[in-house]
Amino acid sequence: MTQDPHAHDHDHDHAHTHGADDFLAEMFDGDRPPSDFEVLEIALRELLFEKGVITPAELKEKIVEWDAKTPAIGARIVARAWVDPAFKARLKQDFIETVAELGIDARGPDIVALENTPTLHHVVCCTLCSCYPRAVLGMPPDWYKGREYRARVVVEPRAVLGDFGTVLPESVEVRVVDNTAENRYLVLPLRPQGTEGMSEADLAALVTRDSMIGVGLAKRPQG
Ligand code: FE
Repeated sequence: MTQDPHAHDHDHDHAHTHGADDFLAEMFDGDRPPSDFEVLEIALRELLFEKGVITPAELKEKIVEWDAKTPAIGARIVARAWVDPAFKARLKQDFIETVAELGIDARGPDIVALENTPTLHHVVCCTLCSCYPRAVLGMPPDWYKGREYRARVVVEPRAVLGDFGTVLPESVEVRVVDNTAENRYLVLPLRPQGTEGMSEADLAALVTRDSMIGVGLAKRPQG
């Protein structure tokens, strides 16, 4: 049975629908009908509630937890790797254990750090779907999940990078890597010139989401 406090004075179906409406009101603007996948998600979620597998409160807690994961987490990791070669070496060996030193919980699918160099630039995609190092970057952008990016980046990576305004010299090898369900990549972008002596926090502010996917570069310091 549902744990909806209104459930006792309604028949089951009514209480059930009421809970779904609450969620729908939060998740959709109401200016368009839900897509097939959204309907599927609603059906599955309602079933999990009804069977008592999870409660709405537990789900909301998870949503809050995952909403708090943003590229700022990845940026902290990159900034530390820029200033601490020993940390960077450990990071490349065992990512999840090493970021725990910063109090970052990245447990889940394995994550591998790929370091860009003056002669090698990594770009990450998921050719199959939308695999992404969510524990350290949060939710992937829509374009990352889109068919066009997934199909084109493996065929003409330089052209795709160009669309992002990222132009690399021909002398730089561009390597496209594919995230999978078990294994995800985080790009360690090149540290920009003119950042010697900057604090770790200031360095982290230069590390963009796109630079950790590899479609962009770290920002140059201003001034
Ligand atoms: Fe995927």
